[in-house]
Amino acid sequence: MGYMTISVVIPVYNECENLPEMIARTLSTCKSMGNPFEIVFVDDGSRDDSAEILRRAAVVNKEVKALILNRNYGQHAAIFAGLEESKGDIVVTLDADLQNPPEEIPKLVREIEKGFDVVGTVRQNRQDTWFRRRASALVNRTIQRATGVLMHDYGCMLRAYRRNVVDAMLKCGEHSTFIPILANSFAGSTSEIPVKHCARESGDSKYSLLKLVSLQFDLLTSMSTFPLRLLSFAGLCISMLGIGFGVLLAILRIIMGPAWAAEGIFTLFAILFVFIGAQFVGLGLLGEYIGRIYHDVRNRPRFFVKEIYSSGDAPFDEKVRHSA
Ligand code: UDP
Ligand code: MG
Repeated sequence: MGYMTISVVIPVYNECENLPEMIARTLSTCKSMGNPFEIVFVDDGSRDDSAEILRRAAVVNKEVKALILNRNYGQHAAIFAGLEESKGDIVVTLDADLQNPPEEIPKLVREIEKGFDVVGTVRQNRQDTWFRRRASALVNRTIQRATGVLMHDYGCMLRAYRRNVVDAMLKCGEHSTFIPILANSFAGSTSEIPVKHCARESGDSKYSLLKLVSLQFDLLTSMSTFPLRLLSFAGLCISMLGIGFGVLLAILRIIMGPAWAAEGIFTLFAILFVFIGAQFVGLGLLGEYIGRIYHDVRNRPRFFVKEIYSSGDAPFDEKVRHSA
């Protein structure tokens, strides 16, 4: 079997202090593996010297490619840009801040070579703030519930993908995406391995609280249209309550007489509830259609073929096929 080619994709946003070491360590690790490789750095609109450092590295090393985006689009968009540019049979993504040691790349590659489509990682004794760790734990649990795919650490971008999974992801038309989940939805088999995690060498985390929250919304809406269904369900419940209330009032009125029900005002409430509920159901119905539109707009491939077996002789010749 020939050597599998490897692409390493690294998003960069204001990381000029970390870059020289990052480039050197990634290069030496990849060289030690012996496979043909390329390293695609994507500068996500940095305001420091990152772009210039990358440009110089790309000029000096033939394996290094520098992709400079015109403004900041966010980590996942930057990785997508890198994936589009990558050509390797195996694609490894990692952060530029040295929190994911580049020395772990060979481990990931070996795991993919065993036949897995996607290899995730679990960070051993994670070096992040308490708040970030708690937030991650919550997100990981939600995703596991919602997708049923058991991976323990969705936040860690040190991951490896096989070419066909990358191609499938690139065919998706959606704009707000969360790469690990998208990848898992196309993966036939996944694996996880433990990796080291280090504290950030220099600079601050590029994720503010606001960015984290917006990432969570991306996550939720990219996973399912379930929140839309919740509307119909709430509407149905409110309507049912209204009808129940109405029936109760009618019965009580027959038993206790007209003066009891505040001259019909309670009845008005019952009717109101039914209508409010009906409105929610209507909204939910609209939501159902919007959900469908959302599905189609995202334009995810329905499937992709892994291998095709055939003896090679076509059972139909061209003429037969055209006349049919
Ligand atoms: N990053 C990026 N664009 C952004 C934010 C971050 O390309 O808008 C890159 C950043 O340079 C780093 C990686 O994404 O290589 C992860 O960012 P960071 O280390 O700040 O995230 P954390 O480790 O705090 O999750
Ligand atoms: Mg980091």
